[in-house]
Amino acid sequence: MNNVQIIDGKKLAELVRLEWKSRAEQLIKQGIKPGLAVIIVGEDPASSIYVKNKVKACSEAGIYSEVHRFQSDASQAEVLQCIHSLNENTNIHGILVQLPLPMYFENNRVISAIAVEKDVDGFHLYNVGALVTGNSLFSPCTPAGIMEMLHRNRIPIEGRHAVVIGRSNIVGKPMAFMLLEQGATVTICNSKTRNLPDFTRSADILVVAVGKPRMINAAMVKPGAAVIDVGINRLPDGKLCGDVDFESVKEVAGYITPVPNGVGPMTITMLLGNTILAAERANITRK
Ligand code: NDP
Repeated sequence: MNNVQIIDGKKLAELVRLEWKSRAEQLIKQGIKPGLAVIIVGEDPASSIYVKNKVKACSEAGIYSEVHRFQSDASQAEVLQCIHSLNENTNIHGILVQLPLPMYFENNRVISAIAVEKDVDGFHLYNVGALVTGNSLFSPCTPAGIMEMLHRNRIPIEGRHAVVIGRSNIVGKPMAFMLLEQGATVTICNSKTRNLPDFTRSADILVVAVGKPRMINAAMVKPGAAVIDVGINRLPDGKLCGDVDFESVKEVAGYITPVPNGVGPMTITMLLGNTILAAERANITRK
């Protein structure tokens, strides 16, 4: 039987959140409570659940949070006005706009209205550019959570071949830059990639962020590889599954993340970490 290590994202998230909580408590002792503002536009059910989960996680971690809700027919100007006032609010250290925004919103204009030092999602164009040069103030939460998983499981990155499948702005691209920064040789695949298995089979670290149920099977994985499954797919029977065929791939991989309870819990954890980091920086500048 293959001696695979299953990376339990839920357990790891609990551990990391305890560490974050003690950082939040240090700040509270100094009279500063980390604060996160979440802006949500429209009634997308999935977005509402994500926001609810973020608010709950904040409260458990000792972080103040507030939600600013706008109807789906709200104007971009109203949302921008809200961001401007949150930028000035010293009780708020992190601001995030829940995506997706309605079609008629200009995503970049809205996200870039957030003060760079409060951009805890790391999606502001400044932070995106700074990530490329290795100096970002905040790393996007999903890839940052994956880096935490790799580090805490002592999975070597430097000199290894990392293959990232997916090139989205929120997962694939920042993931690739973070791995590159740590000295991996990185290949980014997308829907136009020819002969995908030729790439996946040479990956020491394989990150799959596509959104296609179980598209990666055991024959596509190098024995001993670390396989990180970002995908969240709802099957017709209502169950969740990842982009990796967990049952077959766990017989080949060295490390594997399950879905659910893999990458997902670490994403919100990193948001909490970024909010605390923003508050710590604000605390230093006010001294
Ligand atoms: P996007 O839809 O924005 O991107 C998907 C990417 O997959 C695209 O770059 C696309 O390529 C690529 N792709 C599609 N088909 C193939 C294929 N056959 N072979 C190779 N590449 C392919 O998705 P996201 O990055 O936002 O999310 C990806 C998945 O991760 C989703 O299931 C999402 O729900 C999940 N997710 C999970 C999170 C978590 O916390 N666990 C957080 C964020 C996302 P192209 O660009 O050429 O179209």
